[in-house]
Amino acid sequence: MKAQRILIIGGGFSGMSAAIELRKAGAEVDLVEIDPEWRNYGAGISLGGATLRAFRQLGVLDEFLALGSAQDGVTIRLPHGLEVGKLPTPRLAGPDVPGGGAILRPVLASILADATRKAGTKVRLGCTFTSIEQDADGVDVSFSDGTRGRYDLVVGADGLYSKLRQALFPAAPKPRYSGQGVWRAVVPRPPEIATCTMWVGPKIKPGVNPVSKTEMYLFITEPRAVNEHLDPATFVDHVRGLLADFPALVERLPQPASNLSGGERQQLAFARALMPSPRIMVLDEPTAALAPSLVGKVFDMVQTLPAAGVAVLMVEQRARQALAISQQGYILDQGRCVLHGPAQELLEDQRMAQLYLGSH
Ligand SMILES: Cc1cc2nc3c(=O)[nH]c(=O)nc-3n(C[C@H](O)[C@H](O)[C@H](O)COP(=O)(O)OP(=O)(O)OC[C@H]3O[C@@H](n4cnc5c(N)ncnc54)[C@H](O)[C@@H]3O)c2cc1C
Repeated sequence: MKAQRILIIGGGFSGMSAAIELRKAGAEVDLVEIDPEWRNYGAGISLGGATLRAFRQLGVLDEFLALGSAQDGVTIRLPHGLEVGKLPTPRLAGPDVPGGGAILRPVLASILADATRKAGTKVRLGCTFTSIEQDADGVDVSFSDGTRGRYDLVVGADGLYSKLRQALFPAAPKPRYSGQGVWRAVVPRPPEIATCTMWVGPKIKPGVNPVSKTEMYLFITEPRAVNEHLDPATFVDHVRGLLADFPALVERLPQPASNLSGGERQQLAFARALMPSPRIMVLDEPTAALAPSLVGKVFDMVQTLPAAGVAVLMVEQRARQALAISQQGYILDQGRCVLHGPAQELLEDQRMAQLYLGSH
């Protein structure tokens, strides 16, 4: 049976998009949104090529391009600014539209709300369902404003904590906290930020994404074991602390990718290895062929990894410095393990030090 009368519960991005498309298909569409002011919270929203393709289908691409920001690729940088590379973003919306972009959430919500109303959707704000009863021919719905309606189809678009899902599928699993928090802020966009840019650190990965010609939004993902309430008065200090290891982001002075020194090459290799958030890293002589002044920096980098949840197995000729930052050591001689134990004990063993540790 073709659905003629459709109810959408929830006026977020999903509900509005469904309403626009269902109206195009000729259905009568009612949309109820619980928020009387139909607000949309948050900073920017990053969008891939598939979403821009959906905007084209919905008929809102031109408004998005005028009020948001679209560009190709994601630039990846090291904490101090060095560019590691550019991730491609295929142009899925068509050859004339960049492969990604971003926009302020309230701006996108307002574009979609206008399109929803223009499409002829009957929108009721400050309204929700109070009961739903399905029979063989349709669905009877009671609303919080005292009205009732009969529909061929009801679409639940009331978000992550959907009351409709709870009413229809009470045994369905509840959303679970995944262990990652995101800090977000809207800040002025300097001219050198032309595309989404991320700085890859061992523990957190901050990024900025242009949301308009003059603004960008800053996002910082942070592993947080517990989803607890934080006092807003602490926000700025907390974010400043998270960004302490990202001087280039703080100063907004990204360096060009050219002129890599040996130490920078090693940092680049670390950043590449850290991008998929590994649980273990195997390092084969990370200080080999480096100037003595850079050796300490590499060991400093290695030392930060365990605190970020990355286990490290390292083969290194500079045994004394390697043991100093390790928990366990294995001394190899001609390919055979001749001694192993807690790194501190190996360091203090004078005989082993004379035989194998040298002066490094
Ligand atoms: C921190 C964070 C960052 C994110 N960043 C991105 C990003 O960069 N890019 C991206 O693509 N996605 C991102 N997402 C995901 C994206 O925000 C969601 O996928 C999207 O908002 C889902 O839209 P929705 O319309 O399904 O739900 P929602 O946006 O939750 O909208 C639900 C709507 O239903 C209304 N409602 C709720 N209950 C009822 C009820 N009982 N009756 C009637 N109305 C009701 C609400 O008021 C709301 O308007 C992010 C999410 C989070 C949390």
